[in-house]
Amino acid sequence: AKAAGRNTYAYYSAEMGEDGLRRLQIQTELRQAFENNELTLYYQPQFDVQSGHIVSAEALLRWEHPVAGAISPTEFIPAAEECGMIIPISRWVFSEACKQAVIWQRQGLGRIVIGVNCSGVHFKQGDLVADVKAALDQSGLDPALLELELTESMLIESSQRVTQIIDQLKALGVQLSIDDFGTGYSNLAYLKRFAVSKLKIDRSFVQGLHVTKDNDAIVRAIINLAHSFNLKVIAEGVESVEELRLLQQYQCDILQGFHFSRPLKPQQFIEFVEKHLN
Ligand code: C2E
Ligand code: CA
Ligand code: CA
Ligand code: CA
Repeated sequence: AKAAGRNTYAYYSAEMGEDGLRRLQIQTELRQAFENNELTLYYQPQFDVQSGHIVSAEALLRWEHPVAGAISPTEFIPAAEECGMIIPISRWVFSEACKQAVIWQRQGLGRIVIGVNCSGVHFKQGDLVADVKAALDQSGLDPALLELELTESMLIESSQRVTQIIDQLKALGVQLSIDDFGTGYSNLAYLKRFAVSKLKIDRSFVQGLHVTKDNDAIVRAIINLAHSFNLKVIAEGVESVEELRLLQQYQCDILQGFHFSRPLKPQQFIEFVEKHLN
């Protein structure tokens, strides 16, 4: 490829297209960004509908590029998954999130569960269980305060390996939830097979709940399904008071969204909870 000289660019761009090039550039820069500590975690509060208290928070990765500005995780997470970087990044996320949750405890914010997103690549190819255990051991966090957000695609395959991973995670004492519920597969057998504790209704169903009849029907169906399995339901992406009212009426358990708060920096999160008088 070197011998191709100035044709190299043309070769790659024809082969991969603009998107491929951008992804390659993101992968290169992400490696540096990770080493330079440009990745940070923000925390978005989740509210218990009954008590109004902040009972949990989702940890969300942010990348502030010194020149390009903020790059969305919807762009850099898939890039990180493609090149395997997601595994070291996820290890850092787990350990950082657990440390933060211990700080909340020490600050007297109450028992706030920290939700962390898991990557399918980490689940399939990495040692997820060992990495979660290391984060718990290093931080000293009560495992019951860590919730791993899995996706349906990880659980759909009923292999021995999947069952084993889930069993080992449960044995650590962490909670499991299903993220983006309803967007993936229609086979719900895994709900019976695996002891998950929560379903998260995807934002695409929550938004416009009050104007789109289909979304309204889907949200009610998911809430009823979850409750019939004794699972709690979180709605993500709650942006309006109309959505909030309907979710309350349908007896959704936990709410998360810009209507309450955007994802916050660690210090902002602590101030937010203190002001909220949990
Ligand atoms: P997700 O897990 O479904 O996360 C929820 C997304 O919804 C977040 O986007 C959050 O900022 C956004 N959100 C929350 N409330 C609202 C709302 O009211 N309105 C709108 N419009 N958006 C809302 P974000 O932070 O951009 O993350 C996007 C995705 O990137 C996440 O989707 C998740 O799949 C992935 N991601 C983020 N952080 C991590 C991480 O640490 N590890 C892994 N593996 N994936 C991550
Ligand atoms: Ca999530
Ligand atoms: Ca989600
Ligand atoms: Ca989503």
